Amino acid sequence: MATSDTVQVLYNTEARAAKPFVPADPARVTFYTCGPTVYDDAHVGNFRSFLVADVLRRWLESPLCTLRTESGDAHRGPRSVEHVMNITDVGHMTEDDDADGGGEDKMEAAAKRLLEAKKSGKTHESEGVDASDPRAIAAFYAKRFIDDATTLGLKVAIESWQRADVMPHASTHVETMIEQIKQLESRGFAYVRGDKGERAVYFDVSKLDDYGRLSGNTLDNLRGGAGGRVTEETQAQKNHPADFLLWKEDERHLMKWPSPWGTGYPGWHIECTAMSLEILDPKNERGEIDLHSGGEDNIFPHHECELAQARGVTGNARFARAWVHTRFLRVEGEKMSKSKGNFYTPRQLMADGHQPAAVRLELIKTHYRANADFSKQGLTDSARVIDRWRRFVEKGRASGTTGERNAEVADAFAAAMHNDLQVATAIGVINSWINSCDAPTRADAALLAGELDPVLGLLERDVIEAKQEGDVVWLPGVDPDPAIEQLVADRKTAKKSKDFARADAIRDEIQAKGLTIKDVAGGKVEIGRA
Ligand code: AMP
Ligand code: ZN
Repeated sequence: MATSDTVQVLYNTEARAAKPFVPADPARVTFYTCGPTVYDDAHVGNFRSFLVADVLRRWLESPLCTLRTESGDAHRGPRSVEHVMNITDVGHMTEDDDADGGGEDKMEAAAKRLLEAKKSGKTHESEGVDASDPRAIAAFYAKRFIDDATTLGLKVAIESWQRADVMPHASTHVETMIEQIKQLESRGFAYVRGDKGERAVYFDVSKLDDYGRLSGNTLDNLRGGAGGRVTEETQAQKNHPADFLLWKEDERHLMKWPSPWGTGYPGWHIECTAMSLEILDPKNERGEIDLHSGGEDNIFPHHECELAQARGVTGNARFARAWVHTRFLRVEGEKMSKSKGNFYTPRQLMADGHQPAAVRLELIKTHYRANADFSKQGLTDSARVIDRWRRFVEKGRASGTTGERNAEVADAFAAAMHNDLQVATAIGVINSWINSCDAPTRADAALLAGELDPVLGLLERDVIEAKQEGDVVWLPGVDPDPAIEQLVADRKTAKKSKDFARADAIRDEIQAKGLTIKDVAGGKVEIGRA
């Protein structure tokens, strides 16, 4: 059972150990997550990584979460978490995940794919998008990503409708990348190769005596293992096979920017060093952030390279205080990936009638450091769990008994989460509580809906919708708001009693709040953002 001195423990990839997570300022945690490359719709595998980050963020914000401070004290929540998740729309090459810049820009590859789809005459989701323009394609898939992420309750996406800088696009931060490359060059961490017109700037990994410390790679291993991964010509240019690209001069590239090394594009890794430090540590006061997350494939090369760059830029030996990596979601034992074609997207699943909360639960219910297997049966089971939780909350709210907060359940939930986010155990705590409690009280409903669920993010929308007879459909980007629900209900009453002037006045009042209101099928009202 948890005691008040339990503190948050997280497995830190860099330390190769589970350790208390100690941010620089326990009241304001800074957190960067590597986001999607917007060349296609994100699949549920990608979303597993993003949702793990979301649960971690929500948990750190929770009043139930206690952190150890630098002085060894305990800091109890709530606290604020500044969470940034980028959108990659430039520089991510098709072979980047195994090597250092081979292949083709993923956005340019997407442009070809869309052009082929157009030529084939088949209907395609990208109808109306200029298939020759990588920026238009990026904007199209970025919008779909934010819609999907909002539907699945990813807080950073919901927040991005108000504050776009929490989901920055790499292509709008190239200036900072250039500044950082200049710093790396002037400090001896970068060198330029090639003739004018095809220059390349590389990071010199030999300048760090422990390059490889995040992933456990050694420079000798990388020297041996690098053959064949990049063209011999590129390899011959570099001092060491593990040196990686910071800038490539290339006039023919569709997305290009002027730079001291000619017109071209940045390497993929520098974008995250630039966006994380610029947004989360704008004046480089700390020279580090508290948390950094991604999928397990990000450990090497992407995060190893980010760490190397950040060390060169800030002079701080550390970049992130803790690195959290999510294991892959698999389908029948194989990695779910776009190249294998064995993937589902959240929008496909929702179009098939699966509720967003069930998709979310299915993706968060396995411990993040265990491989999870995706199945339709799992989705059905998750939907059943959510129904039971929802009924429990409704019953508790309708009960005539106030009751007392069940501290034992809250403590057991917190103990599971403090222990490296054992979400499966935390869910088990809720399930056994519900099993053993036939007559939930109002305090029980408040504990589940108001304290525990906000960490998992499963009931929040459904409960609000169910509560007011399903009158309001909240469009992506609008958080359910009881004050608006009340206005919608008043408008309905006014219409019923044929007081149209009053109904119109209420509509105007809703619109004046920057919202749209539309009557849709089934007597429902859609509320969106103007
Ligand atoms: P990408 O759009 O390819 O840049 O990937 C976005 C994020 O999804 C990265 O953090 C990847 O590590 C993660 N990812 C990709 N495939 C999977 C998978 N099958 N399971 C979990 N995470 C994944
Ligand atoms: Zn990244």
